[in-house]
Amino acid sequence: MSHCAIVGINWGDEGKGRMVDLLTEKYDVVIRYQGGGNAGHTVVNEFGKFALHLLPSGIFRPGVMNILGNGVALDLENLWTEMEQVRSQGVAITPDSLRISDRASLLLPWHRQLDGLEEARLKDKAYGSTRQGIAPFYSDKAQKKTLLAGELFDRDRLKAHAAQLLEWKNLTLTGVYGAEPVTLDSLMAWLDDFGGKLKPYICDTSALLYQAQQEGKSFLFEAQLGALRDLDYGIVPYTTSSNAISAYAPVGSGFPAARLDKVIGVVKAYSTCVGEGPFVCEMFGDEAERLRKAGAEYGAKTGRPRRVGPIDLVATRYGVRMQAATGLALTKLDVLSDMAEIPVCARYELDGKEIDDFPFPSLLDQCRPVLTTVHGWQEDISAVREWGKLPAAARAYVEMIEKAVGCHIDYVSVGPGRDAYIYRG
Ligand code: GDP
Repeated sequence: MSHCAIVGINWGDEGKGRMVDLLTEKYDVVIRYQGGGNAGHTVVNEFGKFALHLLPSGIFRPGVMNILGNGVALDLENLWTEMEQVRSQGVAITPDSLRISDRASLLLPWHRQLDGLEEARLKDKAYGSTRQGIAPFYSDKAQKKTLLAGELFDRDRLKAHAAQLLEWKNLTLTGVYGAEPVTLDSLMAWLDDFGGKLKPYICDTSALLYQAQQEGKSFLFEAQLGALRDLDYGIVPYTTSSNAISAYAPVGSGFPAARLDKVIGVVKAYSTCVGEGPFVCEMFGDEAERLRKAGAEYGAKTGRPRRVGPIDLVATRYGVRMQAATGLALTKLDVLSDMAEIPVCARYELDGKEIDDFPFPSLLDQCRPVLTTVHGWQEDISAVREWGKLPAAARAYVEMIEKAVGCHIDYVSVGPGRDAYIYRG
């Protein structure tokens, strides 16, 4: 029996989806425990290429039970659309392979609407939200003003509860933003439609997980985004609205009795960041454009060009600590293959002093990157599958990172496909 979390160490988009897809082979149950449809976990396997937004990345493996835990932002419409899309590419999704927690709160159409209205109101001070309604959703959840998936089973009570919430929500929509009020008929039609489609998947997943634990099954917990986007420990306020750290996995998955024995932190071989906020190691100009192109760094959900930079050892060390990583997966090493010299953000400079520790969020704007360079390898490594066959400079780069962040790199990935990786153990 094993409880393993796969988490992001940095700003997200580290390649968690490909690692979960790879490791699901060894696990019986895969659980998404936080976040919502703003994610885009890219998976490339025998079925094709996918950007999974809400579905757990274990959905491709026959026999794996996938669970959306109580901690996720459950957008019924987007989930159904995604299921239909994935099915159209030949993947079977049935209540045998996917279950949704009856305690998951519903992300309603007004959350998406409010996300857009608030970002528009903020104009140039916008947070850079993906406008999927995540922040308004989690705010309402904290106020206990959302519907639970389990409420879909009693329509009369659901309607009464929806009417109560709608009266309150319309005060904000019309009074604060001058938008049209939402009608109960339209809300119920949405709930009937998508709720009806998804009801067969909704159950007490906590009981299911408990039973699986009794049977000695193994569990993989899949996080969205990375440590620097965690609501409590990230770069506030440029974080997501839930906890992306591994410590939240037992809570958000509906499995509080789980004790993680393994945490695999996923780190990209260089840095990327989507959206606003301080990004100390950011590169600009031609150098940045070359790296962006080499790594195809455009958002899986939004298509937005990602901000790029060299690997940031200060931020990565912090991410490793906050995630309590027991091992790392370094992804996209192949992307650096063209560089003669590879820049590395080794430290930050703050107030004339060089620092190694990730500072308080509001100080990040005043930090400057202290850059060093290491030798590149300048040969194609995408077909390499053994550690000893990597060029010496590539091995030195990997070892330099693990030494600097204090955690062993167990996996090195050299391409997007499932088998394009090196296992170091
Ligand atoms: P996630 O949200 O953490 O799962 O990451 P994303 O899916 O947003 O971004 C990772 C991107 O890198 C995807 O397009 C993957 O297909 C791709 N990818 C993952 N690992 C590798 C790798 O080792 N090499 C290359 N070239 N691409 C990779």
